Amino acid sequence: MTDFTPRFLKDYQPAPYQIHTVDLYIELDDERTLVRNQMQIKRHGDADENEPLVLDGQHMELQGLWLNGEALNASRYQCDEQSLTITHCPQAFTLTIETLVNPKANTALEGIYKSGGAFCTQCEAEGFRRISYFLDRPDVMAIYTTTIVADKDKYPYLLANGNCIERRDLERGRHLVTWHDPFQKPCYLFALVAGDFDLLEDRFVTQSGREVALQLFVDKGNLDKARFAMQALQDSMAWDERVFGLEYDLDIYMIVAVDFFNMGAMENKGLNIFNSKFVLADQRSATDDDFFNVQAVIGHEYFHNWTGNRITCRDWFQLSLKEGLTVFRDQQFSADMHQPDVTRISNVRLLRAQQFAEDAGPMAHPIRPEKVVEMNNFYTLTVYEKGAEVIRMLHTLLGEQGFQRGMKEYIARHDGQAVTCDDFIAAMAAANDTDLQQFSLWYSQVGTPQVEATSNYDANSGSLTLTVEQRPASGQQHPPLLIPIGYELLAQDSKKVMHKGVLSLTQTTQQFTFEQLNEQPVVVLLTGFSAPVKLHFSQCEDELMTIMVHADDGFSRWEATQILFRQCIAHYYQDESFSLADSLSRAFADILDAEVEPAFKALQITLPGFAEMTEFLQDVEPQQLLNALSRFKLDLLGKQQAKLQAMYQACDQKLQSGEGHGAGYRALKNACLEYLVQGQSFDTEVTAQYQKASNMTEKIAALQVAASENLPCFEALNRDFFAQWQDDSLVMDKWFSIQARIEDDAVFERLEGLLNHPKFSMRNPNRARALIGSFAVHNPKYFHHASGRGYDWLTDQIVKLDAINPQVASRLITPLIQTQGFASSVQETMRKRLQRLQQLDDISADIGEKINAALV
Ligand code: ZN
Repeated sequence: MTDFTPRFLKDYQPAPYQIHTVDLYIELDDERTLVRNQMQIKRHGDADENEPLVLDGQHMELQGLWLNGEALNASRYQCDEQSLTITHCPQAFTLTIETLVNPKANTALEGIYKSGGAFCTQCEAEGFRRISYFLDRPDVMAIYTTTIVADKDKYPYLLANGNCIERRDLERGRHLVTWHDPFQKPCYLFALVAGDFDLLEDRFVTQSGREVALQLFVDKGNLDKARFAMQALQDSMAWDERVFGLEYDLDIYMIVAVDFFNMGAMENKGLNIFNSKFVLADQRSATDDDFFNVQAVIGHEYFHNWTGNRITCRDWFQLSLKEGLTVFRDQQFSADMHQPDVTRISNVRLLRAQQFAEDAGPMAHPIRPEKVVEMNNFYTLTVYEKGAEVIRMLHTLLGEQGFQRGMKEYIARHDGQAVTCDDFIAAMAAANDTDLQQFSLWYSQVGTPQVEATSNYDANSGSLTLTVEQRPASGQQHPPLLIPIGYELLAQDSKKVMHKGVLSLTQTTQQFTFEQLNEQPVVVLLTGFSAPVKLHFSQCEDELMTIMVHADDGFSRWEATQILFRQCIAHYYQDESFSLADSLSRAFADILDAEVEPAFKALQITLPGFAEMTEFLQDVEPQQLLNALSRFKLDLLGKQQAKLQAMYQACDQKLQSGEGHGAGYRALKNACLEYLVQGQSFDTEVTAQYQKASNMTEKIAALQVAASENLPCFEALNRDFFAQWQDDSLVMDKWFSIQARIEDDAVFERLEGLLNHPKFSMRNPNRARALIGSFAVHNPKYFHHASGRGYDWLTDQIVKLDAINPQVASRLITPLIQTQGFASSVQETMRKRLQRLQQLDDISADIGEKINAALV
């Protein structure tokens, strides 16, 4: 029976024992890998001497156990499925444990497993307990020495954390390599890799003049696809020195790319292990978004070296301490490497489309969760993305200098420690001589707060009063938060910015007054998306159009267009005979005509999607919303076809002439394409785009629209694409994703065929996500089919996947548990499938926790 007992933040207790050193000797074998683990352990000063030592351990065979070199008598220990308990331990001792594990049978991809021909590990959050018995918690920090033994021909590279201190050949074609990591770390940062790779090498000289060897290991034949990631690593290292004054601390930094990986990447000390999706990229096979993400994830994992590794989490409830902060750091890095406005808008779109839904759904939790059944379920958009928004608010309130002062204080106080979110806030407050008591409520509140604003201008006195009110998300209660609200006041005539700054909303209702204004300004609120809230501030079309063109803040210019679109889509949704108002058509034309960066314009003309719109409407009937979205798009095209077509061609010309920054023009060209394929024949152009494209961004966009619009050219392009890319695993993920998004009545037969396709494998997380995840998220028409067949299909796949890899199953179940926002009949149909899952024997804690939350 699966254990669904939750753990609570309030129950935290320090460990009664500490493990100071860990000496691992690991003999790799597909099915019988031997792990000898020798630890120096001490009982904590305050702990009772009768306190047993309880080590975590799962999926292992215990082979031997020695205390201070002597085999331990069976009466002194007890071993079950979850733990090894040793009684009557001395105050300080050496414990040696020998276990066997089976990497080949490990389909959960936690602990030691095989990806292709290589051995690799994933220990965060609680995977080390599948490698050896251990105090598997982040506040137990030790110095690791790791010896790996394996066949030399098959596994020429044997890697672990830290510096290599020994290397020699053994009998029977085997070799041995020993690594020593001089920094103490929790076991979740342990890593090991063994395999045969191509190696890309370079170096980085730190600001203090130390030379660091950089090594990137990729599957054979992929060296050219690793060059961009290497550059991204060097850029990250330089950026962290320049902006945060933080320098790398070991002599070597290694990154290994593997095809089988549950998440994006992992920041193991000195030995990052990456999903190959976030390493490999070249123009032919990767899109501009892929390039952006490679750079962001390389940066993210590198930045963890300080925010995560040098200073880690006391317990897993504090995950946002490292993740929220590190996401904020990688967002700032991306903003500096690209256009800040465009980067910021992408952050906000992700938050609104996905985190807001999580915040409103059954798994809603504070950025510092208080109750957890399966920790892997809390690597969430809330902990990561909302967590980063909370850090960003601090940055806004303290300013760059104040924030950096706080960071210095945080590091000075806690380097080498495992700490809490409160420790971080305390350091920030102390360094800035300010009180962050109220601010820290952001760590415990749940849901997306609502902010309502009204403005009142008194022409006689020339004063403007803003009344701003905050309230918790529906069903939630908490005292008022400290909410920074960025603003601008724009002059009506000159369109100049008269005032700008940040208002600190600290009360439930508060008034802010601006005096000596000689005209009524246009008010822009929540500039830069200064807080993760839903803002209600009604503004007329004219005001929004002024903001759209004249606000200083790029996010606000984009947001003004989005508000216009959202309001309009809501009209289409409510009224089947609604058609486009001239004013909106003109506004759309203005956007198309404006002199702005192409990447920015691409975002401005991209309509809010299905997920974003469900956030803004109530009791959504999915098919009715999809219908509204497509009617709106069609009407915009009808009114502005000539302009869109001209824009499409202009972008094409810019790209052909190689002028300017290609990615922006490609984004704009593809955004136009999305319109141009609606309800008319654009077959020839799509085929031409597909055939001419020398980069994946344009090629995949052509294939994608051909699929989603059922264009006659689709079949031929699809076959061509498959033939060309069938041996490239990352591109095949794109292909599977597109197949899942085809909108026609043969979809369910097609999905069955794809499950049995020779290139499909449930065991490869990227592939499973590409097919199953894409269907559930990007094919709303059939996922939300009134018959419930879409829900059934997802449910069937979850059942299969849960037996193989619960973590991946648990990610993919999200669209089924987020029933909120839909009409009650829709919710009922979804819930029936969850009940079916709940009644199965032996579902994992991962999906069980979510299903139980959704069905309460
Ligand atoms: Zn991270």
